[in-house]
Amino acid sequence: MSFNSLGLSQALLKAISKKGYTTPSPIQEKAIPPILEGKDVLASAQTGTGKTAGFTLPLLQLLSQGQTLRQRPVRALILTPTRELAAQVYANVKEYSEFVDLRSAVIFGGVNQNPQVTHLRQGVDVLVATPGRLLDLCNQKVLSLANIEILVLDEADRMLDMGFLRDIERIIKMVPAKRQNLMFSATFSHDIKKLAQGILRHPVMVEA
Ligand code: AMP
Repeated sequence: MSFNSLGLSQALLKAISKKGYTTPSPIQEKAIPPILEGKDVLASAQTGTGKTAGFTLPLLQLLSQGQTLRQRPVRALILTPTRELAAQVYANVKEYSEFVDLRSAVIFGGVNQNPQVTHLRQGVDVLVATPGRLLDLCNQKVLSLANIEILVLDEADRMLDMGFLRDIERIIKMVPAKRQNLMFSATFSHDIKKLAQGILRHPVMVEA
C-alpha cells in the first residue's frame, strides 16, 4: 500500500514526502479511507503507531476540499489531554499543512493566554487544544465552536484518567450536532466505550 492509493491530495503527498515517509503505517492505512469518506472513526492506537498523521492528513484534506470561509472560524478541533501532546500534535499539523491553505493554532493552560488569543483572532481553521484552556477562552467569548465540522479526541483514555470527562461533556454541548467525530484511544475500558457511545455515530472501528 502506498500513500498515493489512499486518496490524499498532491499537496498532502508533497508534505508526506518531505517528512520522509514512504509507506503508510497500519493505523494510517485503516483510518484514512473511512475518515475521507466522512465517517466517524473509533481507533485503538498507541503512541508511536503514526496515529497523529492518521487523523491529521485526512482532516486537512477534508477541510481543504471545502470552501475557505472568509472569517476562518475554527472548523476542526483536536482535543488532547496534555500541553505536551497538544504542542506535538500542533507541530505535526503545521508540517502536514505546509502546502494547503489552512491556518492552525494551539492553545493550552499554564501559560499566558494573550499570545493564544491574538493568534485565534487572526482566524484559524484547525485548533489543537487542551480542554481547560479551550473552555476558558470559549467562556470569555474569544472563541466559538459553532462552526466545528470535525472533532478529534486524541488519547481519550488519558483524558478520562486525568478527570476531563465533565470538560469534554461541556465541549460537546458547544459543537454542532452535525459533525464528524474521530476518537483515538490506547485502551478500551467500559468508560471509554460509554464516552464513545455518547459522541460517535455508527463509528468504523479500526485497530493499529
Ligand atoms: P505518532 O504515533 O503519531 O506519535 O507517530 C510516531 C512517529 O512516527 C512520529 O515521529 C512520526 O513522525 C512517525 N511517522 C508517522 N507516520 C509515519 C510513516 N508513515 N512512516 C514513517 N514514520 C511515520
